[in-house]
Amino acid sequence: MSTFKHTPATHGLSTEIIHSKPVSSEGFSALPVPVHRGSSTFFDSTAAQRATVNPLGLDYSYGLHGNPTQYTLAKKLAEIEGATHALVCPSGLTGIALVAQACLKSGDHWLIPENVYGPVQALARSLHMDYGVEFSEYDPCNTSSVAERLRTNTKLVWAEAPGSLTFEVPDLQAIVALAKAHGVRTGIDNTWSAGIAYKPFEHGFDFSVQALTKYQCGHADVLMGAVLSNNTKAFADLERKNRILGLGVSPADCDLVLRGLLTLPLRYKQQADNGLLVATALKQHPAVARVLHPEFPECPGHAFYKRDFNGFASIFSIVLKAQYSDEQACAIIDRLKLFKIAYSWGGPESLGLVVNVPDSRKRHLEDSEGKCGPILRLAIGLEEPADLIADLMQALDTTNRA
Ligand SMILES: *Cc1c(COP(=O)(O)O)cnc(C)c1O
Repeated sequence: MSTFKHTPATHGLSTEIIHSKPVSSEGFSALPVPVHRGSSTFFDSTAAQRATVNPLGLDYSYGLHGNPTQYTLAKKLAEIEGATHALVCPSGLTGIALVAQACLKSGDHWLIPENVYGPVQALARSLHMDYGVEFSEYDPCNTSSVAERLRTNTKLVWAEAPGSLTFEVPDLQAIVALAKAHGVRTGIDNTWSAGIAYKPFEHGFDFSVQALTKYQCGHADVLMGAVLSNNTKAFADLERKNRILGLGVSPADCDLVLRGLLTLPLRYKQQADNGLLVATALKQHPAVARVLHPEFPECPGHAFYKRDFNGFASIFSIVLKAQYSDEQACAIIDRLKLFKIAYSWGGPESLGLVVNVPDSRKRHLEDSEGKCGPILRLAIGLEEPADLIADLMQALDTTNRA
């Protein structure tokens, strides 16, 4: 119930509606940060409008540059990962593209791992074709391949841990040390760790990128990314690019990710535990040649993983025995009842896909006859692991008998 004092109108109806003051929020306390919307942000005075940045260092000059909802999300992400700078951007891929553009210009060179998130390879090709930015791919399992590819014009070493689809864990400490010795900036796609299981800034990285689309959102209904840094100069370069490109993120979407963060550690841990149970059960199945999961000692780079990480994600791949065809692999996925067929991960539903890994990356996946079967990627959600295991077993068993 509310009663409002009636004040006689002094303007026309539209003017009255637009200029009527909101009620006071005094005495009200609820969500730590509301969804602030606003393309225009209002200044108290011309002097305030001319001062480009407010005294807190937050740019409240225009909706695109940020508001308390967006900055609060960026601040919480920085706290999780131990960064001093952070911004949110429209997707994880945008975050990686921003790092590349902040570090590289025509004639420069960068390094990406062979097992990089696929669209990053496309980004590197496009920057090369359209802007003359050179790139080389290194073997993430062999640090000397990084050393061999560093050039005088190398300006960025990009890393991902573990690698997409095949989950090898590189020697991140050695890679950062090499890059630093050559005065080269470093960045890592830290999506798998959700900023929880690996701390890039303790290991000297200049940039960390998160696809918030995955665990931070956690419900498969938002696309968003973040770039974090504790290198003030490098981050200023990145912010400038972000501003020039006119990138912005919806405050309503930030609110969904802020809600996701409240349960992030719980969901991450629970999904990881569920995933490991499923991965362990799959190891026993006769159709499965290997399970690619950093927790298992046979995972390339397992020792680096044990040294540098204190947790793991709920996504992994299985390699079928070499006698299985791609058609049979697709049939296994199609027979699953509880798994959705979809890209992405980190949501409540478990997902499965047959993935394409180039032969050049299958070196360590081959059996004793030098063959490698189809690869299925599984992202484990929050369903009961026993149900997921039973579902996978029925799908694999049918194939086994065929
Ligand atoms: C999903 C993903 C991305 C990209 O995230 P989007 O928000 O979908 O652009 C980048 N890196 C990794 C490892 C991912 O899994």
